[in-house]
Amino acid sequence: MTRTMARLSRRDGLKLGVAMAATGAAAATLGTDANAQSQSPGMPFRVASTTIPIVGTTDVFPVRRIYCIGRNYAAHSREMGSDPTREPPFFFQKPTDAIQFVAPGTVGDHPYPSLTKNYHYEVELVAALKAGGKDIPIERALDFVYGYALGLDMTRRDLQRLLADEKKPWEIGKSFDRSAPIGPIHPVAMVGHFRSENISLQVNGVTKQSATLAHMIWSVAEQISKLSSANELFPGDIIYSGTPENVGPVVRGDLILCKIERLPDLSIRIS
Ligand code: MN
Repeated sequence: MTRTMARLSRRDGLKLGVAMAATGAAAATLGTDANAQSQSPGMPFRVASTTIPIVGTTDVFPVRRIYCIGRNYAAHSREMGSDPTREPPFFFQKPTDAIQFVAPGTVGDHPYPSLTKNYHYEVELVAALKAGGKDIPIERALDFVYGYALGLDMTRRDLQRLLADEKKPWEIGKSFDRSAPIGPIHPVAMVGHFRSENISLQVNGVTKQSATLAHMIWSVAEQISKLSSANELFPGDIIYSGTPENVGPVVRGDLILCKIERLPDLSIRIS
């Protein structure tokens, strides 16, 4: 975070220097800078970019889009009222500023969001893409993965259900500020791919969700392939790969602890 801000302020400083030069006598000595300035349009304000730290380096992973698959574990699909044997995969998105990075070994402060009285956890494996394309074949799909992270798809369940019942988009049930807590990206070169590892979630020390990634209905490779038939994928896209059964509510003060074998734990406290 501080690194990103340092980069921004350095850039701001450069931009300010160019702007000052263009306005006064100093402009004459800075002809090349003036040319450079004319090649890029000015912006009335800055929009922050979203990044996730990459473990073991000082680099960060730039986030382009956040995709999430719905009902990707059979038992979770049943608890949500669906028939997992008949349903094709479906996807939704969260905005990039849903990302709340939580460093391993720390407990993220996660504010209880507005508008809900039934705030749910969903622990998920997240795949982060380094390359994109359309109609990616399943057999090649894992070659597009840069790395993996442990994430939470936090959900205003009451709003999601209400809006779905009313046949309205359930956007604000899923897509809101800080609704995507996540740990650092672990490059495939370091950890390989994930297929049948244990995935679990505890609230206040009590296990709530426990399954293996082998219980996914659609594998990460299948998700990438399916998604790329709907949208062209690009480097920086990340995919929340679905949650196992036994989702449930949290209240202020609760401590959530998420685990996937071979990744560091992810923990947040609801405030
Ligand atoms: Mn989910």
